[in-house]
Amino acid sequence: MTVAAAPKPALKSDAPLVDSFGRVVTYLRLSVTDRCDLRCTYCMSEKMTFLPKSDLLDADELETVARAFIARGVTKIRVTGGEPLVRRNILEIMTRLSGYLGKGLDELTLTTNGTQLAKHAADLARLGVKRINVSLDSVNPETFSRVTRGGKLAQVLDGIAAAQSHGLKIKLNVVVLKHDNAAEIPSIIDWAHRRDIDVTLIEAMPLGEIEADRFDQYVPLSEVRANLEKHFTLTAEDYRTGGPSQYWRVAETGGRLGFITPLSNNFCAGCNRVRLTCTGKLFLCLGQNDDADLRHVLRTGGNLDAALTEAMTRKPKAHDFLIDAPGKAPAVARHMSMTGG
Ligand code: SAM
Ligand code: SF4
Repeated sequence: MTVAAAPKPALKSDAPLVDSFGRVVTYLRLSVTDRCDLRCTYCMSEKMTFLPKSDLLDADELETVARAFIARGVTKIRVTGGEPLVRRNILEIMTRLSGYLGKGLDELTLTTNGTQLAKHAADLARLGVKRINVSLDSVNPETFSRVTRGGKLAQVLDGIAAAQSHGLKIKLNVVVLKHDNAAEIPSIIDWAHRRDIDVTLIEAMPLGEIEADRFDQYVPLSEVRANLEKHFTLTAEDYRTGGPSQYWRVAETGGRLGFITPLSNNFCAGCNRVRLTCTGKLFLCLGQNDDADLRHVLRTGGNLDAALTEAMTRKPKAHDFLIDAPGKAPAVARHMSMTGG
């Protein structure tokens, strides 16, 4: 592993990133790759083409952008992708970012499919990562293999066990799919809560062309909750993370259950986040197409700070997701793996 230079200090900002609706951005989701070792049916098409390496921000560029955000008051960075743990120098990137913990950055975390976690869990814990999100849509090996197009459940379960053994707190993200896993949700919750793992259910969003019809995959979480109430006693909680989840406590398991409902219940009013793709495009909203090309700024010696200020003026009020008819084109052409979920 390359040893990163000592990070330059990121000063706490007196010029926070505030958009034209008064929302303050304190959370950056940083995609480090568009590649993945799985092909989840709702996320990617079977034959995805991936970007050449030269298009991606390198470790230096990623650190420079992260530092600029931290200097403007970003306190939380989530590394994502694609699958972040398949990027070859992921540990170098995480090492560099972890140098800002306690120096403006309060939390460094990541979202992963878990396949490479067994290999990386010890290093992540050593670098100061405290909790991670693992995306897992089924604990049934056949369903898992079908949804991921060939993934091996055992690999992810080993990764989760390794992460827990190194003290990493895990939250499971589960995209609910009408025909694939909707009927399995109670057993997934039961499985996770028995292992002290919180669960967040997510509605499938219309991002990018895939083989399946998204209308056919989508199920509103209000329906899922009504079904869950036949199995569990759910009590609404005040707990918020600053994110889009609404949380419930499951009396029978004692565990926490989150619902992310971008389609059936818009959550944009409290949005505190922006997303940077692995090619350095800053998306102000997951569900809109406007972006700021920070790679261009970086590679032409432009003023990154001014670019962030300008971009904030364009953060839209809300997304326009809608899955209201069969065969409808996706609301946003880029896949979630491109924007960074
Ligand atoms: N590969 C990592 C993983 O799966 O956790 C990180 C990237 S993935 C794009 C991030 C999250 O986006 C995952 O929880 C995944 O389930 C979710 N996701 C991908 N496409 C989605 C879609 N169309 N609608 C809703 N969630 C989606
Ligand atoms: Fe890969 Fe994550 Fe997309 Fe699944 S959801 S294909 S694991 S990037």
